[in-house]
This record gives sequence, C-alpha cells and structure tokens, in this order.
Amino acid sequence: MKKDNCIFCKIANGEIPSKTLYEDEEFRVILDLGPATRGHALILPKEHYADLYELPEETACDVMKVAKKMAVKMRDRLGCEGLNLVQNNGDLAGQTVFHFHMHMIPRYAADGQKIGWKPGEPEEEELEEIRKALAD
Ligand code: AMP
Ligand code: ZN
Repeated sequence: MKKDNCIFCKIANGEIPSKTLYEDEEFRVILDLGPATRGHALILPKEHYADLYELPEETACDVMKVAKKMAVKMRDRLGCEGLNLVQNNGDLAGQTVFHFHMHMIPRYAADGQKIGWKPGEPEEEELEEIRKALAD
C-alpha cells in the first residue's frame, strides 16, 4: 500500500524525482538531501510502512541485503573508511519522516560528525531485571 501525502512513498515510487543510487522491485536508495556526510543515503521500501514495527520480517531481511550491496559500493567508490547504519523509530527517537527508512552514513576521517550516546552505568540488578523482561 502507498500512503497519500507521504513524501517517501512518492519518492520511492518515482512520482517525485530523487538522486537515485539503486532501484529494484522493492526498494529505492536515494541520496539524503540534508546529508550528515558525503554520500549519506536512504533505503526506502516502495510500500508504505511507518516504521520497523510495521515492516514485514521479509522486507526487513531484504533491507539488509540492499545495505550490504550499497556498503561495498560506498567503500570502493567513495573511499569511506567507516559506515553507520541508523534507523530511527518514533518522534522520541528522532524520526521525522514516518515512512520506514534506513540511513547509510559513510564515514571519513575528520568528517566532523559524531553518532553516539553517553554510556550509562547500570547496576547488575537493573541489567537482570531488563534481561528477565526481554529474554524468553
Ligand atoms: P529521520 O529523521 O530518520 O526521519 O530522517 C529523515 C531524513 O530524510 C533526514 O535525514 C532528511 O534530511 C531526509 N529527507 C527529508 N526529505 C527528503 C527528501 N525530499 N529527499 C531526500 N531526503 C530527505
Ligand atoms: Zn510512505
């Protein structure tokens, strides 16, 4: 399904032009217009899924196959020395376009970007409580 008024539906399906790097039946990979680094790309499914929760498992697997292909191209053709995959889900996590997308951010020495977090210092009890909540 496509969603009316979803800009990434329109881009993924070619209704709005984009700097396309790769396309197949399921996905379009485009350059991000507000790139973190040179070559920052987005993997967009052509079907509308708001986020990872809505994404079918098979499509999730296929996203990683596309990411792998593009990662090799970025390394070999752009000469990046590292790569971040970033995928935001929900307002609170920084998602601004509510059509699933995977960021591919090539990294270069002195690119001036920092993608990370402040490490916490949990007690063992807290880790165990979380483990119990999540482990089957
Ligand atoms: P997120 O914050 O994870 O939802 O990421 C949205 C990304 O989409 C941002 O990095 C934007 O720069 C990018 N973006 C928004 N509109 C467009 C567009 N029309 N074409 C390409 N990239 C876009
Ligand atoms: Zn959409």
